[in-house]
Amino acid sequence: MSSFLLAFNFITDVKFSEPFLLHPYSQTENSIFGQIMRDIFYRTKQLDDLTLRGSSRASVQSFWNIPEYEIGFDIGAHPWDLTSSIRHLFISHTHRDHIGGLYQFIARRQKLNLLPPRIFVPAPMLSRVQKFLEIWQELDNSSFKFTLLPIIAGERISWETGEGRILELEALTTRHRVPSLGYVVRENGIPRVAYSGDTLPEALDENPVFYHANILIMEMTSANGLYSPESIHFFGHTHFQDILDRKEFFGNRHIVLSHFTCRQSMNLLCRHVAKVFPDRLKGRLIVW
Ligand SMILES: [Zn+2]
Repeated sequence: MSSFLLAFNFITDVKFSEPFLLHPYSQTENSIFGQIMRDIFYRTKQLDDLTLRGSSRASVQSFWNIPEYEIGFDIGAHPWDLTSSIRHLFISHTHRDHIGGLYQFIARRQKLNLLPPRIFVPAPMLSRVQKFLEIWQELDNSSFKFTLLPIIAGERISWETGEGRILELEALTTRHRVPSLGYVVRENGIPRVAYSGDTLPEALDENPVFYHANILIMEMTSANGLYSPESIHFFGHTHFQDILDRKEFFGNRHIVLSHFTCRQSMNLLCRHVAKVFPDRLKGRLIVW
């Protein structure tokens, strides 16, 4: 049998539900919308009583969601089936891989008759983001409802989830090439989740809560010796050596490393992380 026919055999086993549907969409069982499209890849992991969903590669896309908190951090892309679980969105900075899905998110919330989202952006960038959204609505000849708010370091935002969880978020100073912020969410006063966004490592030292949150989601753009710390710092990012230098400080239960360079495969990056952190920081490292 020719290799052409063998290749063809591969797809004849697939049962298509519609004649022109080439890839059956995955379904999200718990969604109030029933069968839903999975349009953009992301990972999901249960960390204690919270579900972390997201994807993060430098220059590609970064977005995170914790449905129990109805919260999103960044929105470099927006998977359709996360639409209902992000009511409060916090942008760390306005680089394209962290904000590129914003308009889709706003439009889809409205399309699905969901409450308008609250979107917080670093205050110095508010008017530009507002302008960007106005132009996009003109391009679309549409009008969408949302609340866009500035946020500065030290500011605290509270909300109660539909399930009665009372949460307080605090914005943290970070250091990047555009105005930027990190965030920590406290529940009953306990720092549960901290998100660094993109930053130089000094932001960790300047905000010790990064070291104490139960779950730390942080960037580690460089996982190997291909790039020097200086070259990584030049672009406002964190190098693996910065984390090694501070390994005694991390008191977190889970440390999610993300935002790896897109110039290397995940397989290679995982091998580097295993070499650099042989004990995975006492088993707490999660390579995202
Ligand atoms: Zn960035």
